[in-house]
Amino acid sequence: MTFFKIQSDWRIILKGIRRRGLMYVMSSPSGAGKTTITRSLLNNNGNLVISVSATTRKRRAGEVNTQDYYFVSPDEFGKMVDNGEMLEHAKVFDNYYGTPRAPVEKALSEGKDVIFDIDWQGTQQLSEMAREDLVTVFILPPTRSELEKRLRSRSRDTLESEADIRGRMTKAADEMSHYTEYDYVIINHDIDEAIAKAQTILDAERIKRRRMVGLSDFVRGLKDGL
Ligand code: 5GP
Repeated sequence: MTFFKIQSDWRIILKGIRRRGLMYVMSSPSGAGKTTITRSLLNNNGNLVISVSATTRKRRAGEVNTQDYYFVSPDEFGKMVDNGEMLEHAKVFDNYYGTPRAPVEKALSEGKDVIFDIDWQGTQQLSEMAREDLVTVFILPPTRSELEKRLRSRSRDTLESEADIRGRMTKAADEMSHYTEYDYVIINHDIDEAIAKAQTILDAERIKRRRMVGLSDFVRGLKDGL
């Protein structure tokens, strides 16, 4: 599969030792704080880039095309899928969402880590193609009422209807049932603490032994000198 070719260039972290870039997936029901956590990680990690998804859903107030999403028509989306331009794609709510393949391949080939804000369906698909390079985190809200409060306060900014909010609450319940499929779970009762946990996971995963290429030669060099 062509996808694995993208890992041929690794980030050099020490003379002779390189690191495989990782794919950091964040999933959660909407309103659990995922966007805030993701933005903070991007601000604090120069080597981390976000995968901007394509979607057929309507742009919300304040969203910027090519920055928050590539807003495309259902026809354009279908063509991207047919041409193999999507790394994964899924129907979420009543719209289609997908991860364009090329920017992810480019970032990983430059030795960068890539963060994804995708649902459980997309996470499963990435897991099937690149499990070793994937780190998955599920973010949960602290209580149901807090989730509802966050959804309602956000809806004031995005002009969502009561029906949209109720729909998101129902979907949140579906989405949350998939938390067992993830490597890590963060319960977001305090946003700063949740951000710190997401950073800790990233830091630890970056120094996983299997991600360091050239380690055995490095250690041999250390032993030879003794
Ligand atoms: P929203 O419409 O609130 O921006 O996103 C709705 C859901 O779609 C979120 O759970 C988000 O993680 C998910 N999503 C966004 N982009 C993608 C994507 O490229 N692929 C998949 N599978 N899910 C996505």
